[in-house]
Amino acid sequence: MTLQSFGVIGLAVMGENIALNVERNGFPIAVYNRSREKTDAFMAQRAGGRNVKAAFTLEEFVAALERPRKILVMVQAGKPVDAVIQQLKPLLDEGDIIIDGGNSWFEDTQRRTQELEPAGLRFLGMGVSGGEEGALNGPSLMPGGTQSSYEYLSPIFNKIAAQVDDGPCVTYVGPGGSGHYVKMVHNGIEYGDMQLIAEAYDLLKNAGGLNAQQLHEVFAEWNTTDELNSFLIEITANIFPYVDPETKLPLVDLIVDAAGQKGTGRWTVQTALELGVSIPTITAAVNARIISSIRDERIAASKQLTGPSGKYDGDTKEFINKVRDALYCSKICSYAQGMALLSTASATFNWNLNLSELARIWKGGCIIRAGFLNKIKKAFNENPALPNLLLAPEFKQTILDRQAAWREVIITAAKLGIPVPAFSASLDYFDSYRRDRLPQNLTQAQRDYFGAHTYLRTDKDGAFHTEWVPIA
Ligand code: NAP
Repeated sequence: MTLQSFGVIGLAVMGENIALNVERNGFPIAVYNRSREKTDAFMAQRAGGRNVKAAFTLEEFVAALERPRKILVMVQAGKPVDAVIQQLKPLLDEGDIIIDGGNSWFEDTQRRTQELEPAGLRFLGMGVSGGEEGALNGPSLMPGGTQSSYEYLSPIFNKIAAQVDDGPCVTYVGPGGSGHYVKMVHNGIEYGDMQLIAEAYDLLKNAGGLNAQQLHEVFAEWNTTDELNSFLIEITANIFPYVDPETKLPLVDLIVDAAGQKGTGRWTVQTALELGVSIPTITAAVNARIISSIRDERIAASKQLTGPSGKYDGDTKEFINKVRDALYCSKICSYAQGMALLSTASATFNWNLNLSELARIWKGGCIIRAGFLNKIKKAFNENPALPNLLLAPEFKQTILDRQAAWREVIITAAKLGIPVPAFSASLDYFDSYRRDRLPQNLTQAQRDYFGAHTYLRTDKDGAFHTEWVPIA
């Protein structure tokens, strides 16, 4: 029997598309899914004429693969990944490689690595971004684990990944759970991007009075610019003119305004809090989805809690340009936060992440792909020790040039009662980061007052405590 060179377990959206991608690139595949129906449907509808072997038991699946076996697990993150690994483990031989391509929590990946490697099995935790289309035609791949396992698989990864001007969108991310961590932060940044775009839309529609066609034109125009050209701006432009065939209204206006989430944004916020890295734009994006989801409560509140309303009373074209500037400045802040989180995680967990390379592999295949990532790649390439993206010459100048517009947009939003949590959080991040003195001297005084926590002084060394007494 001819053996297949690559195996995929899990034939839901991601698994079936990545399986076809691997096969199309010249690697015969074996596939297995827990429920037989998905395998049958895959074979009948999508695998015709291709070098695909369907297996209906894990034993059959493992026996169909050449050694060392290369097995990509694309199942629901969490317990299902452990369940699959436990079933696979006794069937595998020394040197076989399991790749977990789902959105696993990075600590689970570290634990799985520690469980599998002493047993002679190799394990990679690989972030895969790009959704269905990326999985099929070229995703951004973020593999973490033992470097030799990565090197062994890199000929396959290099072929199946998205291809951009400076190579395939894959790199060796680092050891342990680093690949999944980077994918999680990628998703956090994606949350930030989506929220910032939503706020720009809200402002243009409700303060600027733009209709669906005008919104389409503005976003389509922004998508031609060096700074905002990106997959998310492109799909946003495409969404506005889409008319619901039944009602003949713009479909976007008929969609319930309650955003879902699967957890990677929340994880990004949780880990940032644990590592002590400030990511307010991404946090605001997660919070915005949370508050959007209490829709009934909001509708009830809207009948009782009044606020300002109305339209922007200046020149519309100028307003559009100011919103564009506010969006771009906020986006820079959001990426600065994501990169700062990766930098701290890298130092904390000894991952030696290459931030320039990470920006490069996000240039294609993934949801946050954007021309703008070239600038980030360049910034970290020129200075790998850059403390914050805001200090990179190009970004610094951009923000200095556009901050007046950014501030004006946020003032307008506040005046008109339009929430812009991610725009505001970004500006607060910028203003906090650039201030040489913040009001936390008072916080320290309070902590010392009620808890004897001591404080440092600006004029002499040492820790001090004061017996604070009310002074009449
Ligand atoms: P999914 O809906 O997350 O998971 C469904 C798959 O998991 C099915 O094949 C299902 O098998 C299998 N599964 C569930 N529990 C199992 C268990 N206990 N044992 C064995 N198999 C089990 O699928 P997906 O959307 O394709 O995503 C796969 C992974 O990629 C996830 O971690 C997801 O977060 C990540 N991801 C998804 C996207 C996306 O756009 N969808 C993008 C990037 C990353 P049955 O058919 O038998 O139920």
